[in-house]
Amino acid sequence: MNNRIHILPEYIANQIAAGEVVQRPESVIKELVENSLDAGAEQVSVVVRGAGKQLIHILDNGSGMSRGDLALATKRHATSKIQTVQDLEHIMTLGFRGEALASIGAVAHLEIRTRREDDEIGWKLTAEPLKDDVIEPFKSEKGTQIFVRNLFFNVPARKKFLRSDLTEFRHISETMLKFALSRPHIRFTFYDADSLIFDVKPSDLEQRIIALMGERSASQIIPVDFTAPLVKVSGFVGQPSMAKHSRSGQYFFLNGRAITSRALTHAVFFPFEHLLDKNSHPFFVLNIEIDPEKVDVNVHPQKHEVKFDDERMVYNAIHQAVSEALQRSNLVREAHFREQIAHSPFEKVQLNPSSTPNDILLVNRLTGEIVNTTSQKRIASHSSVNNQQSYSSPQSKSSNYSQEYTPQSQKQTFGGAQQTAFEALFGSANETQTSQNTNNQLFEEPINQMTVWQLHNKYVFVQTDKGVMVIDQHNAHERILYERALKAMNEQFANGQKLLFPVKIELTSSEKALFDELSADLERLGFDISLEGGIAEVRGVPLDVHAGNEESALKEILAQFEEYQQIRHSDSRDNLAASFGCKAAIKTGQRLSEPEMRRLIEDLFATSTPYVCPHGRPVVIDFPLGEFDKRFGRTS
Ligand code: ADP
Ligand code: MG
Repeated sequence: MNNRIHILPEYIANQIAAGEVVQRPESVIKELVENSLDAGAEQVSVVVRGAGKQLIHILDNGSGMSRGDLALATKRHATSKIQTVQDLEHIMTLGFRGEALASIGAVAHLEIRTRREDDEIGWKLTAEPLKDDVIEPFKSEKGTQIFVRNLFFNVPARKKFLRSDLTEFRHISETMLKFALSRPHIRFTFYDADSLIFDVKPSDLEQRIIALMGERSASQIIPVDFTAPLVKVSGFVGQPSMAKHSRSGQYFFLNGRAITSRALTHAVFFPFEHLLDKNSHPFFVLNIEIDPEKVDVNVHPQKHEVKFDDERMVYNAIHQAVSEALQRSNLVREAHFREQIAHSPFEKVQLNPSSTPNDILLVNRLTGEIVNTTSQKRIASHSSVNNQQSYSSPQSKSSNYSQEYTPQSQKQTFGGAQQTAFEALFGSANETQTSQNTNNQLFEEPINQMTVWQLHNKYVFVQTDKGVMVIDQHNAHERILYERALKAMNEQFANGQKLLFPVKIELTSSEKALFDELSADLERLGFDISLEGGIAEVRGVPLDVHAGNEESALKEILAQFEEYQQIRHSDSRDNLAASFGCKAAIKTGQRLSEPEMRRLIEDLFATSTPYVCPHGRPVVIDFPLGEFDKRFGRTS
């Protein structure tokens, strides 16, 4: 008959609940600074003694509290931030659970001094576990000051669990750094006992990063600014020189709240992959803004982790934001000899630990494309075609580029457009005449005289002023064609080549729909196509599409476009240009003559961003002479 179950005394229940929110001094600071920010403070000052175990003192100039609010603030589930269940759906404040002050009050001596701007007099509350709160009038500045003394004095087990002061202080510093980075317009002052750790004045994010990370970072950070329909990503990423062997220095703020996410961290890492050593992690401070209804912040007691309605969309946006930033910054790629590229072209990226197979993204390391599992097969078959000659007609199958495009053959005419094969590959000579002298300071010799060498029909080697440059021929041509296509669509029509014998191609219904959508832009690219029923009659194609490949070119561009629509957040023209670049570019495995290689280099360095292809993959890697010297034991 003896019942064994009983309700815990409030004192113990509170301590247990407090354990969820307050695990170490750092958690107290996090909760209290969040409250200051929610109260609209423009200045927040934090002082800790004994790594926060002795004293944590927070001072803000925010809204302050009335006596009535103060009396309730330390009660469990007391909050001014939400009222209804619906409010949980669109939380814009950092707090909302109404547990922090109650939890802190259960495991420490708590004192709050506060005054609202229009109140004559302020109030002071003192709270101690097992005792009633005491509230008395108190003369204080506008805002709120909180003192937390003797943390965990009544929870010896927890106290024992704490690490050395050094470690606890490091946790606190990291949290203070996050706050300071998340709100550059707010002044933060941070003291360890009497020594000032930092005092950062209101500024923009760039200045704030420099203030916290040091002057040297000024030339090392690259702005990120990307807006997609449902999400905005902005902030800075660090150049490879700022990367670290640990993950410190990686900051995500989701609607102003610091979060961690392995998947999203990977989305930043991925565009950096070829720029960094295996164990290096890029520096970044990225703000993600998203409709609060599309994210659940209430899945973690300390709200470090959040759950997105559509994490894939956020992943893609970040990936693209960072890729574009790196492209714009035109980062020269310095090689890392030890870099290992995985053997499988696909890398699995799990979005969260409990992902279903549908949540697993596959990333093609060779193309940089993100694919979902359902479209993997399609991509896989594409890329196997890519390595062969997907644009070769049956007739030309046996001939490789060396036979088809020897320098002599340049003088011959080719195809219905009387176009030389050389021009078909690289566009007409006139088009690039203007870029003759591009980047000649980079190379030892004038482009038309320099020694070039092709490795395994894949990479082009050329000597530079600093060492040797290796160019990925496919990526390079892709970059060239992408820019040319964009220009054709946005500024002037490209010249096409007329076919002597128009080609008829049967389109599927989805290809037909896509074609209808894109026909005007395809025409600008140089296609001359009319559609009747499901049959497309191709009378002309861009110079870059060579004879016999009209059908596969058109179909593959449409397929690629459809895919990009799902995975890139660019406009239709940008996607079409990227699809065109990807599908019309010379392939890995094609032999190039010396003039072709020189032309490729020349055209590449006439583009706006020669170092990265439209997907953010590297085009050029520099191997500095010093690397060779080092390896051969020379001191250089
Ligand atoms: P929550 O932040 O989840 O609402 P807390 O226990 O952290 O819960 O705080 C309870 C309430 O006390 C807050 O909702 C807020 O109204 C008030 N409060 C706490 N800190 C401050 C502060 N620094 N300035 C003004 N009001 C505060
Ligand atoms: Mg709070």
